[in-house]
Amino acid sequence: MNLDLIDRTFLVTAASRGLGFSVAKSLADEGAEVIICGRNEESLKKATSELGELAQYYVADLSKQEDVKRLLKNIGSQILRLDGLFVNAGGPPPGTFSNLSDDDWKKAIDLTLMSAVWLTRETIPFLKMSDSPSILYSTSISVKQPINNLLLSNAIRPAVIGMMRTLATELAPEYIRVNAVCPGYIHTERVEELMSASESAVESINARIPLGRMGKPEEFGPVCAFLLSPVSSYIHGALLLVDGGLYQGMM
Ligand code: NAD
Repeated sequence: MNLDLIDRTFLVTAASRGLGFSVAKSLADEGAEVIICGRNEESLKKATSELGELAQYYVADLSKQEDVKRLLKNIGSQILRLDGLFVNAGGPPPGTFSNLSDDDWKKAIDLTLMSAVWLTRETIPFLKMSDSPSILYSTSISVKQPINNLLLSNAIRPAVIGMMRTLATELAPEYIRVNAVCPGYIHTERVEELMSASESAVESINARIPLGRMGKPEEFGPVCAFLLSPVSSYIHGALLLVDGGLYQGMM
């Protein structure tokens, strides 16, 4: 299938590694120009060199509004049009209700919800210049069922879905498509770090997944590239689980 990505430009956030990088790689492999961002210049440089000559990077902490504004200002000094935005950031810290402070909540809201708000707002003028604009929000299976010890993710990520579903109506007159992906367990560096302490944790997670294993980043990126591409032109306001069957609810 030709995803029609040549001469198209995408902003993929938090993409020096992990899920973001897998999406940037899939888009770049299809011939798209990719702009990535993250907090650490060294990791971004390394990631950009792996993405090829059409890739570039900017340093930005997505939990800071001024950084998101500066990011899009810098991009705007080079290009007028973006064809797609992949909204992704680091995960909020684990914790239960009794051990999370107001400060933890506020930081997580900025990182997980407000980064999506700011990125969407600052990117819309560039997307309006495209003939096939699209935004894809990366959330988590936690929007469908809560995950133990991840209260902040369980509580805040559904707000991103609420925004996406609302934007599906509000941005339709601009022909900007919006969708969301909800990964279950994808074996990124982060998951590797979290699991490295315990072999049994990997086994017990795998046992709960009907396909019997975690997903690979290269099983996530292409799905997102498809949803960002003009080929998915009639998919709008949708939520797609990429979880090996882990979520077993009916809806
Ligand atoms: P990762 O740690 O491998 O990669 C995260 C990336 O985000 C890194 O490039 C990091 O530098 C960047 N980043 C973190 N905080 C940032 C910030 N404030 N500003 C800019 N960049 C920032 O993690 P991952 O596994 O790729 O996960 C990405 C997101 O998806 C996280 O929010 C995670 O909670 C969520 N998620 C992951 C999975 C999974 O199975 N991997 C499942 C559900 C949800």
